Amino acid sequence: MTPDRREIATTIANDPASYKLCAVCGSIVDKSAVSCPDCYAYRFDHDTSHVADAALDLAIKPRTAVSHFDLMPESPEAEEE
Ligand SMILES: [Zn+2]
Repeated sequence: MTPDRREIATTIANDPASYKLCAVCGSIVDKSAVSCPDCYAYRFDHDTSHVADAALDLAIKPRTAVSHFDLMPESPEAEEE
């Protein structure tokens, strides 16, 4: 199930130091990630103000991209079909 975007954006905006921005696609990823889960890039922007801005943008913008969450099966039952 896809997590609520506004909820995620709020969590990130409150703790931007735990995240970083993908320098290629702009995705917000966990600070510990080695590569971007969406585009597999290795370059990141660690500026916390940029991360917080991106999180707030994410909360108000309509969704336009396919994320890795969309590519995951909804449940084990769905995978068996
Ligand atoms: Zn990326």
